[in-house]
Amino acid sequence: MIKNDDIRAQFPALDQLVHGQSLVYLDSGASALKPQCVIDALSQHYSKETANVHRGIHYLSAQGTQKYEASRKAAQSFINAPHEHEVIFTSGTTDGINLVAYSWSEVFLKEGDEILISTMEHHSNIVPWQIAAERKGAKIVEIPVTDKGEIDPSVYEGLLKSGNVKMVAMTHISNTLGTINPIKEFAKMAHEAGAHFLVDAAQSVAHTRLDVEKLDVDFLVFGAHKMFGPTGVGILWGREELLNQMPPYRSGGAMIKEVTLEKTTYNDLPEKFEAGTPHIAGVNCLKSAIDFMNSVGYDFIAQHESELLSYAETELRKIEGLRIIGEADNKASVISFVIEGTHPHDLGMILDEQGVAIRTGHHCTQPLMKRFNVPATARASFSLYNNKEDVDRLVSALKKAKELL
Ligand SMILES: *Cc1c(COP(=O)(O)O)cnc(C)c1O
Repeated sequence: MIKNDDIRAQFPALDQLVHGQSLVYLDSGASALKPQCVIDALSQHYSKETANVHRGIHYLSAQGTQKYEASRKAAQSFINAPHEHEVIFTSGTTDGINLVAYSWSEVFLKEGDEILISTMEHHSNIVPWQIAAERKGAKIVEIPVTDKGEIDPSVYEGLLKSGNVKMVAMTHISNTLGTINPIKEFAKMAHEAGAHFLVDAAQSVAHTRLDVEKLDVDFLVFGAHKMFGPTGVGILWGREELLNQMPPYRSGGAMIKEVTLEKTTYNDLPEKFEAGTPHIAGVNCLKSAIDFMNSVGYDFIAQHESELLSYAETELRKIEGLRIIGEADNKASVISFVIEGTHPHDLGMILDEQGVAIRTGHHCTQPLMKRFNVPATARASFSLYNNKEDVDRLVSALKKAKELL
């Protein structure tokens, strides 16, 4: 079995001092650090492999195209997608949701229809749907969360009964609470009510295996940067029969079959949704990130992160006045908290001075802040390269912050 120390050694960012102290990186929920293999792949691309794809017949272009499509194939098997052409390269989670919200709603959404989104959604899974609803005269309906930070299945079931729900858009793992939603069950319920289901897998991709056949959803989106890959590239997976009915989202080069000044016919999947020169370097390095994840394996990740989560929660609860926000039964290694009498922003600053990187603020989930009646939280998110010493450094830094504030 792979060891945590061997993993840490692959992340050069961990080998540095911040404000004179060794870095403790607890902000992987915002963006994960990159392993050496991804850094090398990016460097190799720009050093030796630069060329555009799908165009030239020269050596570098052909090689680049081959790598680009190999990345698609790797992504297909990574999420167990039935077809390669169902895998669309985007610029990230936000871009993927915007594509679906715009293009899907053109075909499937009409006046009086409803879109269900939960209170724990990231702004990226709220705003695009609001814009689509406004354009079509449809309605956004909120799925509330309980005090523990979960979705009550019976409340969700009740909302589906209106008979007007056409889409449920839900996060797999809450980036703020760490709640893991039972996507398979919830998608089944949506389908029984005649609705489609989109899952925001931005957080979950780094923690849990994504299997679109098993989850039985209609759309799944994530970005590469939270799974140890480059920024600016992401995956949208959608069911072939839906994607085929949806109009292009952006238009231009590569997404066409034939253009005259009077009329254009569109390319087939996946090119229909990939207008313009894509982020070739990013896509090609995405494969290295997938290879890295496969080499570590989700079994290690699950075991290691659940140990860290329970150790961290136990230690944090010992700090007087500290309240954890988000206590779902099924939780990923993300801990939001507030400390009585302190502002999260001040905590973050004092932790930073001690080399401990955490996130503070609303985490792009303002409706959730309102739900829990806090302006902001501090959030520590743990990844496969973190260890127990990181937890200890967090706890002692928080104790120091409490003394100072
Ligand atoms: C990070 C995140 C997003 C947005 O991802 P981008 O990389 O900013 O596009 C959406 N949803 C969740 C749950 C996230 O954690």
